Amino acid sequence: MFPKDFPEKLRSTILASEVVGKKVKLKSRGREFYGLCPFHNEKTPSFTVNDQKGFYHCFGCSAHGDVISFVMNSDGLDYKNAVTKLADDFGIPIPQVKFDPIKENLLERDYLILEKACQFFEKNLHEGSVSEARNYLKKRNLNSTISKKFRLGFAPNSYESLTNFLKSESFTDSEISRTGIIGQNDKKKFYDKFRNRIIFPINNKKGHVIAFGGRTIGEDMPKYLNSSETEIFKKNQTLYNFDKARKAIFDKGYAVVVEGYMDAISLFANGLENVVAGLGTALGAEHLKELFYNTDKIVICLDGDSAGIRAAKRTSEIALPLVTAKKNIAFAFLPNQMDPDDFIKEFGAKELEKIFINPTPLSESLFEFAFTELGIDRNKKISAENKAKIEANLANKIEAIRDNASKKYFSLFFKDSLFFLGRNFGKEKKNPIGNFGGRIFPKNSANAQDSLAINIIAFIVKFPELASFRDDISDVKEMQFSNENLMQLKESLIELIENGEKNLLPALEKAGRDNDISEVKNILARLGDSTLDSNLVQFRILLLKDLLLQVSQQYQESLGEIDEIETHQSAITSQKIKEIFDYKRSLEQQILSLELEE
Ligand SMILES: [Zn+2]
Repeated sequence: MFPKDFPEKLRSTILASEVVGKKVKLKSRGREFYGLCPFHNEKTPSFTVNDQKGFYHCFGCSAHGDVISFVMNSDGLDYKNAVTKLADDFGIPIPQVKFDPIKENLLERDYLILEKACQFFEKNLHEGSVSEARNYLKKRNLNSTISKKFRLGFAPNSYESLTNFLKSESFTDSEISRTGIIGQNDKKKFYDKFRNRIIFPINNKKGHVIAFGGRTIGEDMPKYLNSSETEIFKKNQTLYNFDKARKAIFDKGYAVVVEGYMDAISLFANGLENVVAGLGTALGAEHLKELFYNTDKIVICLDGDSAGIRAAKRTSEIALPLVTAKKNIAFAFLPNQMDPDDFIKEFGAKELEKIFINPTPLSESLFEFAFTELGIDRNKKISAENKAKIEANLANKIEAIRDNASKKYFSLFFKDSLFFLGRNFGKEKKNPIGNFGGRIFPKNSANAQDSLAINIIAFIVKFPELASFRDDISDVKEMQFSNENLMQLKESLIELIENGEKNLLPALEKAGRDNDISEVKNILARLGDSTLDSNLVQFRILLLKDLLLQVSQQYQESLGEIDEIETHQSAITSQKIKEIFDYKRSLEQQILSLELEE
C-alpha cells in the first residue's frame, strides 16, 4: 500500500519519454518525441510522447495514457504493480504509509491554515501602513506585479497579530501549533515567530503554501528566518520557486539554482524563469535528485567570492554520485563578487543567461578545486610530488562517481589535464575568476597553443633550414596555427627565407605584433649560439605538442557529442573517439620518449 498521492508524485517526477524510451526508440521533434508505436504494427512512426503534458498518444491506434498506464500496457501489470515497478526502476522510495483518513484530514487543515496566514501577510503588505516594507521592496526593484505574483507579504512587529487572526478564523490550538510559524513560550502561550519581516511564501510543487521565509527590515537577527519543519515542510526536500519554475525548466532544458529568495525573484522578474533557490541551508542530495527528475542539466549559480567557491566545492561533492552521461551539473560563477541581482543591474539578463548557457563543467571545476584544496599554486611549476597529490585527490572524486561512463571520462579528463600541467610553455592567466563568460577558469589551451607557435617561429628564425622541415608526422610549411596573427607571421617568415633574406629578425618585425616579436627575441636569447643538432629534438617535441593540443581539443569535442547522439550512431562515434584517443596516446608517448632522449 502506498500513499494516495504517490502515483501523482511518480507522474510529476518521472519523464514520460524516459519510461517510454526504455521500450521504444524515440526521436525528438520540438517539444515532443516520436517513434514506432509499441501497441500496434507500423512502419512509419505515429506514436508521440509529450514530457510536458506527461502522456503518450498514438495517432494510428489511439493508444493514450501516462507513465503508469504505459507500464501497465507494455508490461501487462495491474495498476499497483505498475506503480511499484516504476518507483523501483527510477529509484524513488515508496513511503510505506497506511492510508489514514484522520491524518489526511489533518494535512488538509495544515494547508488551509497556511493559506490563510499567507493571505494575512499579503493583506498587511498591500493595505497596511507599512511604508518601510514597501520601500524596501521598491529599493530591490520589486514592483507590485512581481510581489503579487510571488505573494510577498509583511509580518507586523507584534507577538500576537497572526496568532489572534488565526484564532479569529476558528482554528484550534492544536492546529495552530502545527503550522511551524507560531511559537509557544514556557507558559504554553502562543506567539508570532515572524515579526517586522518581509514574508516570502514557500510553496510545494503544486503551488500550495507549506512554509514561509521572512527577511527582517529592522536590525533583528537572523536576517532571514524560515518556518520550523513540519509534516508538510521538509527543508532538505524543498526548493524555493520550484512550482513556478518547472515549465521554464522544461522549456529551456536546464535549471538554475541561486543562493537566495531575492536572487530567484530577481531572475524570474527579468525573464529568467527557470530558477530555484535553496532555503538558506546548503543544497543537499535530495534537492539535486528532485531537480534531476525534471531536467538533465543543473547550473549552480554562485557569487564569485570565496564563500561561493566553498559552496561550489561542497555541492560538487554531493553531486558526484548523481551525475551520469545524461545528468550533468555545472557551475556559473559571477565576476567581481557580484550576486545575480548586481549582475543584471550592471550587464543585463541576456549576459547572465549567456553564463548559464556556457557554465564551467563539474569535471573542470573538480580539477581546479584540487589545487585550492591542496594549497598548490596553479601558476607555479608543479613538482612531481604535488602532481601525485593532485592525482590522489582526483582519484577520490572519481571513486564517488557511480555512473560508469562518467567515471571513465572524468578519469580520462583528469589524466589529460594532469599531463598538460606545467607543460605549457606560456604563462597561464592569474586571476581564476577573471573576465566573465561563465568559466571561472581560463581555457588555457589557446595560451599554450600560441606559446608553442611562437616557439616554433623563433626556432625557424634561429635555424632557417627548419622552414622546410618535415617528417612522417609534421610538416612546417603545411602546419596551421589557430591564432591568425601567428599564422601570418609564420607565412611571412617562410616567404622571407625562400626569398633569401639574411637579416630575418628586422624584416619580421614589420610583419608581427610587438608582443609576439619580443617573445620571439626572448626565445632567441635563450637559444644563444647553440647548434641545430642540439635543438632538433626540442623542435620536434614542439611540433608534436602543437599537434597534440589540436588532437586533444578534437578529442574533448567528440566527448561532448556523446550526450546528444542516437543509439545507432553511438557505436560509430565511440569508434571515432577511440581512434582519436589512440592517436592522442601515441603522440603523448612519442613526446615522452623524445623528452627522455633529450
Ligand atoms: Zn498505435
